[in-house]
Amino acid sequence: MDRIFNFSAGPAALPQAVLEQARDELVNWQGCGMSVMEMSHRGKEYMGIQAEAEADLRELMNIPANYKVLFLQGGASMQFAMVPMNLFRGKASADYLNTGEWSKKAIKEAQKYGKVNVVASSEDKNFTYAPAQSAWKLDPNAAYVHYTTNETIGGVEIFWTPETGNVPLVADMSSDILSRPIDVSKFGLIYAGAQKNIGPAGLTIVIVREDLLGQLVPGTPTMFDYKIAADNDSMYNTPSTYAIYIAGLVFKWLKKNGGIAAMEKVNRAKAKLIYDFLDQSKFFQSPVAVENRSLMNIPFTLKDAALDDEFLKAAKARGMVQLKGHRSVGGMRASIYNAMPIEGVQALVALMKEFEQQHG
Ligand SMILES: *Cc1c(COP(=O)(O)O)cnc(C)c1O
Repeated sequence: MDRIFNFSAGPAALPQAVLEQARDELVNWQGCGMSVMEMSHRGKEYMGIQAEAEADLRELMNIPANYKVLFLQGGASMQFAMVPMNLFRGKASADYLNTGEWSKKAIKEAQKYGKVNVVASSEDKNFTYAPAQSAWKLDPNAAYVHYTTNETIGGVEIFWTPETGNVPLVADMSSDILSRPIDVSKFGLIYAGAQKNIGPAGLTIVIVREDLLGQLVPGTPTMFDYKIAADNDSMYNTPSTYAIYIAGLVFKWLKKNGGIAAMEKVNRAKAKLIYDFLDQSKFFQSPVAVENRSLMNIPFTLKDAALDDEFLKAAKARGMVQLKGHRSVGGMRASIYNAMPIEGVQALVALMKEFEQQHG
């Protein structure tokens, strides 16, 4: 069977070339007689794989030397706890921006460890935009400022980097990391679950400035301490070796395809095809404010929600799946991460056009 176009929000499509290489190396990695899955994480083969993945990520994102790259588990959801446990550092409160479902979860978890000040929220308009920084009530004494660069469910992306002075900026980049260049030096900490735009589920990447490490909330478990992970090259215990290997292959694929700046060009072209169509359509609509329209996750609604199922069926018949929107937004959602080829987006827009002609 041929590959289909998978618009899943996560776990999401991976580059076919990566899957094919993994298949070719599955049983016998580069002639060493075993699979990466079977390697000791302390052996030289695996240590080389992880070191290379880190070096490639550093190169792709231009990560400064005073930042640690950590390969953790537990998903982005575990970071909702690890961030406050590690970064409160005895301060009275932390600042959080609320732009949607993931922000809300991060806020709720942080409240277990200290006071949370919500600097601004877009809940008034069902999370269809991001408040401008001029509307944020930042506390200059906050432990850190947390925001979600791309709300995967609402399709709301923030393309500018907030200015927070000396207060460390923390970002959940689970669904837009590696999709466009960012200046890592502007951040205290960046985290991302791998299963959207990096690799398989089971791996979480954290990029953290060294001076923020080592001041834990009392009672923090060892495994939740960034410094333990940093001091042990993410091998305090067994890392998610196979997921890290696949992520490493994705990094090589990104490098081969021109890096993150080249990815951004393609991502913008892909997103534009859909948004341009939505803008002239009288049948399909985008609920998101123009300046916050995500390049990665594009929710859209049909004029008549009773036709949702028919649209999904028509998409499936043409080899396009996982387009059903999140229940909090309704309608459809097309997730078009780096691995989604432009052909998939073209096929989707062609279907939308025909569907509108038939039902509009
Ligand atoms: C998917 C997602 C999460 C949750 O990720 P898990 O790895 O499942 O914990 C958190 N934040 C954002 C922005 C996401 O897209």
